Amino acid sequence: MGLLDSLYQELVLEHYRKPRNHGALQPFDVREEGINPSCGDEVTLYLRFDGETIQDVSFEGEGCAISQASASMLTEAVKGLSSEAALALSQRFREMLHGAEPDRALGDLSLLRGVAKLPARTKCAALPFSTLEVALGRGGPQG
Ligand code: ZN
Repeated sequence: MGLLDSLYQELVLEHYRKPRNHGALQPFDVREEGINPSCGDEVTLYLRFDGETIQDVSFEGEGCAISQASASMLTEAVKGLSSEAALALSQRFREMLHGAEPDRALGDLSLLRGVAKLPARTKCAALPFSTLEVALGRGGPQG
């Protein structure tokens, strides 16, 4: 594993240890729970909207470091986006998990690109995004 890889891994673990936007949002407009039975990961997303804009977002959950770090990064990435833009971001993230070059718009989420080499863990990284897609009323494909 190269230096850059271990640096990315450190940053992922940092999100896991100090999750951003963690805890129930009060008040919220949408609450959506997702589970990844293959690993035992759970993520609950809370969303508050201002029209079409995601005004605030938070999460609760438990599970492996990849799933929880992904949820933490998701909340930072989609806050302030329109639902449409959040779904587009989710699509780019899924493409990255399947080997595409990370898009700049992904920000910290690009730190999870190493997961593309770990097929058994892509569902962990994708869980917060599949949960978001359901929360936004566009249930995406699993995994
Ligand atoms: Zn997991």
